[in-house]
Amino acid sequence: MFMHSDEYVIVKAIQPNRRKAEWLEAMASACGQAVALGLEAAHASHSASRGRLHDAVYATARSRLGLPAEYVRMSVNAAVALARSYYGKRKARQHVSFPKLNGTQGIGLGVHAYAIVQAGERFALRLSTGKRGQYIWLPLSVPPRYRRAMPRVHGDGKLFKRRGQWYAILPVPNSPPPTGCSGEPTFIGVDLGVVRHAAVAAPDRVLFFNGKPARRRREHFADLRRRYQRHQRLDRVREGQGKESRWAKDINHKISRRVVELALHYHNPVLVLERLDGIRRRTKGSKRFNRMMASWPFRDLADKIEYKAEQLGIKVVYVDPRRTSRTCPKCGHASRSNRPQQGLFRCVACGYQANADLVAAHNIAAAGPAALAQGLSDPARPDKGQTGEMTSRPDGVKGCARAHPDPNLEGSTLEPHRL
Ligand SMILES: [Zn+2]
Repeated sequence: MFMHSDEYVIVKAIQPNRRKAEWLEAMASACGQAVALGLEAAHASHSASRGRLHDAVYATARSRLGLPAEYVRMSVNAAVALARSYYGKRKARQHVSFPKLNGTQGIGLGVHAYAIVQAGERFALRLSTGKRGQYIWLPLSVPPRYRRAMPRVHGDGKLFKRRGQWYAILPVPNSPPPTGCSGEPTFIGVDLGVVRHAAVAAPDRVLFFNGKPARRRREHFADLRRRYQRHQRLDRVREGQGKESRWAKDINHKISRRVVELALHYHNPVLVLERLDGIRRRTKGSKRFNRMMASWPFRDLADKIEYKAEQLGIKVVYVDPRRTSRTCPKCGHASRSNRPQQGLFRCVACGYQANADLVAAHNIAAAGPAALAQGLSDPARPDKGQTGEMTSRPDGVKGCARAHPDPNLEGSTLEPHRL
């Protein structure tokens, strides 16, 4: 299961309290039953097809075992792996019996089922329970040699129990750090906008957050507001505003989390944002568009990004928003005519053509080094000074130590490969 990632860490969970321990046991049992269902289906159909096993397991695992979808997926994967190994051996004319489970399968952790949360030197595993906003937090005991790798943990992992202790095995993708090992900063540009709430440009990755569904929902809120106003129901107007504001902040929360998670994939990441005083000035559009522009809480989004970044020791710098949307990243030509229409960038000088938000995000990232050198912060923020609040990573961002699996961890012989 860890074929795609070169390395992984095995860390011990600090002894969970009874409620958590019970949850883990119940989860492990349900996952084990789901794997067993998958194996039964494989046996009955003489097949190790993922689609077939998924179909055989999914409904029962969700309804009867109460497993969240992400855990079902991992259980199916485990069954597929076991069945494939069996059919593979049989093909090689080895005499093996069909795999049976011995109850030590553990809990497959899908990439979306967990998050690593770091506070200073301490780490916790946040497990989703399948219920919105409800998590199981497992504080981890992370040896110093693994600490630098923890923020890079990403991908399918696993929780398992040995001698009464829970362990997490977590993959650390071995993608080469784009800026090498020199500790050079990696600049990640974040373009905030309405058509896309955010476009994020990292050296080898791009992230878009589509703002369209939210725009429709906002229009719905605005309609309601107008109707209540007509009927003089100011209480309802206020109620609606509170609801809308909570909803928008929740979206911002999710966007900011993903932006920061992306940044964690890089060495010495620096998030580059536009100074927000420019975001409204920049766009000339229809009345409706301007209203939308003015109404999305971008300040809240930027604040959330900055807050989460600072918690994790990621620097945030702000750049001048002028020209970011109309400068050609290829030849440097800056002109309003480079934006023939919303969403499209086409350089009138060299003909370079690309998604406009992406171009803006790249330009913002490109302006990062100068901003970092000058220690620019957002002057539109009265509460912020200059360089003072730029935090540095606690690890000093030097070197590129990799985590290596340690079979001798805790003195026990673990078998992490049998997933
Ligand atoms: Zn050009």
